[in-house]
Amino acid sequence: MKILVANIGSTSLKWRLFDFSNNAERLLHKGGFERVSDYPKAIEDCLAELKQANAIQSETELSAVGFKTVIAKDITGCVRFDERVLQAMADYNGLAPAHNPPYITGIKLFAQRMPGVPLIGLFETAFHQFAPEAVQRYAVPEAWRQIGVRRWGFHGASHKFMAERSAELLCRADVAERARQLYVNHGTTPISREPLRVISCHLGGSTSITGILNGVSIGTSMGMSPQSGLPQNNRVGDLDAEALPYAVKTLGITVEEAQRQLTREGGLKGLSGLSNDIRDIGEAALQGNPQAKLALETYVASARHWLGSYFLQLNGTDAIVFTAGIGENRADMRAAICANLENLGIKLDPVKNQGTRAVEAIISSADSQVKIFVIPTNEELVVAREAKRFLETK
Ligand code: AMP
Repeated sequence: MKILVANIGSTSLKWRLFDFSNNAERLLHKGGFERVSDYPKAIEDCLAELKQANAIQSETELSAVGFKTVIAKDITGCVRFDERVLQAMADYNGLAPAHNPPYITGIKLFAQRMPGVPLIGLFETAFHQFAPEAVQRYAVPEAWRQIGVRRWGFHGASHKFMAERSAELLCRADVAERARQLYVNHGTTPISREPLRVISCHLGGSTSITGILNGVSIGTSMGMSPQSGLPQNNRVGDLDAEALPYAVKTLGITVEEAQRQLTREGGLKGLSGLSNDIRDIGEAALQGNPQAKLALETYVASARHWLGSYFLQLNGTDAIVFTAGIGENRADMRAAICANLENLGIKLDPVKNQGTRAVEAIISSADSQVKIFVIPTNEELVVAREAKRFLETK
């Protein structure tokens, strides 16, 4: 069974092709195009590359195309795309303006190009749907809640991968199995030993931190939109609700312009005044740039805020996991986030930490009560696995 996972951006198309034949999981091909202006041609070129690499002879060999879609009104989990699902995504375009519109366009183009192939989406909100109601709520009037003003949470595929993989690394096959079966039985697979507590730190261009108990999310830093929680690369993260009307009135700008500034010129870019990329900010901080230093410190302070929140809610933690571009590559950020936590049983091994870049590794010291891992994320594999299960069960 071959499943193509297509990652659609407003000007990019990236893909991974998995083969699940003979009970194995094999990555057959991965590739992508940036600066895409002609999307139908990009899809054509993707198929041509797959054929050239002998990964497929024809698109009819694809059992499904999977998509890591973000959010839809009243729909989550793993679903097959039809008009109703696409409309539900369009209804929430305003919550994910950088993601939903290109996905809707891209999925329609895939449907035209390969009408016989099932197109299946795993929504990023899915992993957080079983968190307690109390942490999903904002304290808004009922009418607001009814139109969807609540915490949804995102990066579900990545946090789910961390839930499964960290349980495997901690020799907890029971918890890994619960995480694997999450969308089948809503986190009720029995576990055979004491509870397993994990805090998953997805630190990338887009960042979120999630508390995970026995393979299930108990809450996450992102709320109603990906524009929340920690500062993102150029998105603001959490902001007092009064700040928006105050800035609109005081700066004399429109709501739309304020939103544009908060999504394009906020986050690490806004804080540093330099760049949205932590590599540039790190370099500038090393040269002594005070704004760059402050940007890094603000990011670290926010990460520690959320880490502390889940440490408390989980009554401690067995493991902290770092993933995504910053989490996998930046030993300095991992060290800053874990600094001075020995009293909580959290102790990095500085040598292991420094030597770990984009590979799976344990980076805590031998006497740390809490294991600290780097686990490269594999969101596409999670989407492909769920698409496979969807095909097998529906
Ligand atoms: P992601 O969204 O997971 O691709 O992460 C993107 C962010 O991670 C970028 O903004 C960079 O700041 C950082 N990043 C990605 N790759 C590296 C790398 N090789 N070394 C250091 N930082 C990196």
